[in-house]
Amino acid sequence: EDRLTAPERQEEDTGENALRPQTLDDFTGQRSLRENLKVFVAAARGRDEAMDHVLFHGPPGLGKTTLAQIVARELGVGFRATSGPVLQRAGDLAAILTNLQPRDVLFVDEIHRLQPAIEETLYPAMEDFQLDLIIGEGPAARTVRIDLPPFTLVGATTRSGLLTQPLRDRFGIPLRLVFYTPDELLQIVARGARKLGFSLTEDGAREIATRSRGTPRIAGRLLRRVRDFAAVAGRPADRALADDALARLEVDRMGLDAMDRRYLRRIAEHHNGGPVGIETLAAALSESRDTLEEVIEPYLIQEGLVLRTPRGRVLGEPGWRHLNMAPPAAAGL
Ligand code: ATP
Repeated sequence: EDRLTAPERQEEDTGENALRPQTLDDFTGQRSLRENLKVFVAAARGRDEAMDHVLFHGPPGLGKTTLAQIVARELGVGFRATSGPVLQRAGDLAAILTNLQPRDVLFVDEIHRLQPAIEETLYPAMEDFQLDLIIGEGPAARTVRIDLPPFTLVGATTRSGLLTQPLRDRFGIPLRLVFYTPDELLQIVARGARKLGFSLTEDGAREIATRSRGTPRIAGRLLRRVRDFAAVAGRPADRALADDALARLEVDRMGLDAMDRRYLRRIAEHHNGGPVGIETLAAALSESRDTLEEVIEPYLIQEGLVLRTPRGRVLGEPGWRHLNMAPPAAAGL
């Protein structure tokens, strides 16, 4: 089911390429990460070497793919992309690696979902630019070692905790992406509107920005919907129109959608505010635990609506307020 405010990539997001920033200077937000990357890019260029391997981690839709493409562009090298679940056999990875040009960037999305056998092929490739291929089967099988061109692996994951230690250790440059501030999103939305060639007032842009869950992908999606509403209504895209459009799309003042509210309400109404275990919540909401942890919870936790405690999830004071409910007196909130 495609939720409007789901941060994962969806069919309609193919239009988002138009909004993608092309350079590090063009990229809004993630300031310290960008400053670090600039140094590493410049150093690699200066030495004429492949840049060290980079691991981007953070919630979906914050710009990991975009940054990987920018890194390749700024290094002046080619960009190849694949993902953990797509690579099924060691041969798939071998085919990609042996086709790289020296210093190319290989982007592996969802790298925490690599098959163990493929992950092991990756270790010597990352460390020594060597590939051990097994040729033949059974007793006649033998291993051939192939030299690879030096390359930069850029991995992306929503869950760095799921990466094995040996894989994590092979990334010289681990970088964490954080949610964007409303001001950063305001810039992204305003710029997006200009690129899409439609006029959006500043307070209209701000309305979209504050309701985008700190996530540029969602901001881009809401922006396109508001543009549609404005076109059909034949009204200027100002704050009132944006508010109207987003309310009709059931995106509330904080940018939460029906699923988020079900999640919060479940804890409030069925568990008296918690603590409640994640598995219990997942079962009650018919969502996978992974979806709750990777997609739904990060923003709710960052905003203090929900707290993660050793005994389970607990509704925070802003969570009660958002639901217009009073916490039970005994909870001492
Ligand atoms: P996933 O983890 O789901 O692959 P991602 O983190 O790789 O997501 P991207 O695909 O890079 O996210 O970005 C999603 C959308 O948000 C793209 O349209 C991209 O152009 C836009 N975007 C991301 N970061 C920025 C930014 N800092 N400024 C402007 N637009 C951005």
